[in-house]
Amino acid sequence: MIKSPLPSVSGLPEAAQAAQAAPDREGGSAASLVSSRRQLQASGAARALDLLGDAWILRLLRSLFRGQRRFSGFIEETGISRAVLANRLERLCAAGLLRRDESPGRHAFYLLTDCGLDFWSVLLAMWQWESRWGTGLVKPPMPHDRPRGEPMHTTCGHAADPRPVCACCGELVTAFDTRGEIDAAGAHASACLVAEAGADPERRFRQSHSTCRDDLPTLMRVYGDRWNSSVMAAALQGARTFTDFSEATGIGAGPLTRRLQELQALGLLRPRAYAGSRSEYRLTRSAVATFPITLEMIRWGDRWLWNGQSPMTIRHLRCGQPLRLRWQCAHCQRGLERQTLRFD
Ligand SMILES: [Zn+2]
Ligand SMILES: [Zn+2]
Repeated sequence: MIKSPLPSVSGLPEAAQAAQAAPDREGGSAASLVSSRRQLQASGAARALDLLGDAWILRLLRSLFRGQRRFSGFIEETGISRAVLANRLERLCAAGLLRRDESPGRHAFYLLTDCGLDFWSVLLAMWQWESRWGTGLVKPPMPHDRPRGEPMHTTCGHAADPRPVCACCGELVTAFDTRGEIDAAGAHASACLVAEAGADPERRFRQSHSTCRDDLPTLMRVYGDRWNSSVMAAALQGARTFTDFSEATGIGAGPLTRRLQELQALGLLRPRAYAGSRSEYRLTRSAVATFPITLEMIRWGDRWLWNGQSPMTIRHLRCGQPLRLRWQCAHCQRGLERQTLRFD
């Protein structure tokens, strides 16, 4: 496990920072990568991604957080086809994120449940990343927002500049100062879950890519595809070589090759030659910065899909306590809540 924080890169243009490889970390041994796979499979993030790892679902959630409630409104806002929309709304209702409301003589509308509303901080983490590292096309998950709008913290009246910190010690959280710990029951339960998800990875790949337009922002392409996000998570756990990724994710050679190519095209992985003609893959700085999104996915998945009984604990190595992520306003240092953020 890596215990040192990322060195400061302030002063460099963000595009240049994004393209740089992240500092070296220990390569994964076979044992540690198997253990990483167990951690990954046991986390709430794996369950969340099985359910939500679909670009249309993420787009619909963004649309719902911006206040859209109607079938025709979703079509206008996202360009989704009627058949795909009906399918995704049904999935969101079945998973408990959405409820359909229909009064006699009126069109049906859709409302986020508490479980759906709680997904807000996942989208906030995505917005924070995309506004700093991505194309800026992910819109803030708030009503009345604007693309690339600076989030205002209504409690203090200043730009929030959301920062992910540890709720216990208040330190900024990075990928390098946390450790996942898993119990045996979780490993078993998650193995069943991933066997199901892994039955036909190409089916999900085709579905998520064939129906989406080319203008998807970076994160929709990563988290809208279950296997792209698995490869990213494995890289965050220390996978470097093709064999490492294969071990850590269980993805077949063909689909894995395509994921590695796509993540390079997105600027998240950088190939580096080693042992003659072979390549290994390193995370760029922009990729390392996606870590809070993974943490939020785990938190949300643990709460709503594991009934709060997560088999995995993520420990913050700086304070030694189980990590609870908190979004903090950089100006007033107070916690950010869904109700106290405004995008204008
Ligand atoms: Zn801490
Ligand atoms: Zn504030």
